[in-house]
Amino acid sequence: LQEQLYDAAELIQHSRQIVALTGAGISTESGIPDFRGPGSIWQQHPPVRYRDFLHKPEARQSYWATRNSLIKQVTAARPNAAHYALVELERRHSLQGVITQNFDGLHQDAGLPPERVIELHGTSRFAACTLCGSRSSMPALQQRINSGEVDPRCHLCGGYLKAATILFGQRVPDAELARAKEIAEACDLFLVIGSSLKVTPASTLPRLALKRNIPLIIINLQPTSLDASADVVIHEKAGEILPEIICMLNT
Ligand code: NAD
Repeated sequence: LQEQLYDAAELIQHSRQIVALTGAGISTESGIPDFRGPGSIWQQHPPVRYRDFLHKPEARQSYWATRNSLIKQVTAARPNAAHYALVELERRHSLQGVITQNFDGLHQDAGLPPERVIELHGTSRFAACTLCGSRSSMPALQQRINSGEVDPRCHLCGGYLKAATILFGQRVPDAELARAKEIAEACDLFLVIGSSLKVTPASTLPRLALKRNIPLIIINLQPTSLDASADVVIHEKAGEILPEIICMLNT
């Protein structure tokens, strides 16, 4: 492990345009469960597809049955050492941006400037209408659900309300994906932190870097499909490993 940490520190030390792709695994140490690991959300409740959410009341009920408690956990969560380690890289002027699949806002809470964070799958800090697209307060929507509303509708147009996050079958916003590709095409080091790399299009982004022979570091508890192509692979907790790597960097 020590050798892998050293190799990772060496690569980071010599890079000035680092891009990180983060997934649910970077936030498990903040108390938010991931979707696929042991004890994960989908082991208990299968994911709701966007088309079903729009057309089936029982799908919306199932969505809110799991989402409401997940959003509560997300709201109470604080950034962990892995989020802060990325802020440290940004302060050293070597982090170009973080592309995240997370909707928890913890990168920004840790202190990353919002313009450096690309939220590919949206944010659970807001509610969004599936018909008119308007955003509204998530705490207000949660209050409606907590007081017994089972199928909340938009006050403006009557459309169904959900968190401003992407469900399966829903398009990743074009602007976010374009920005993510742009920085992945321009980086000189790509980090994957806490992602199973099973969700497209996020999982295609490290491949853009690999095509240009850019080094890849993967820090993820479980193996991923890109482990064999990576320069450094560390199957340990991000919140323990990233701060250690940062400590190895020269000031
Ligand atoms: P995933 O659940 O598919 O995979 C998470 C990966 O992180 C797993 O491979 C696991 O081994 C690893 N992991 C868990 N704890 C770790 C730790 N402490 N350190 C390092 N690795 C760790 O997550 P994904 O790839 O991000 O994709 C699934 C979807 O889940 C995404 O679309 C995302 O929107 C959503 N999601 C987000 C949150 C959040 O915002 N915090 C939480 C759950 C799910």
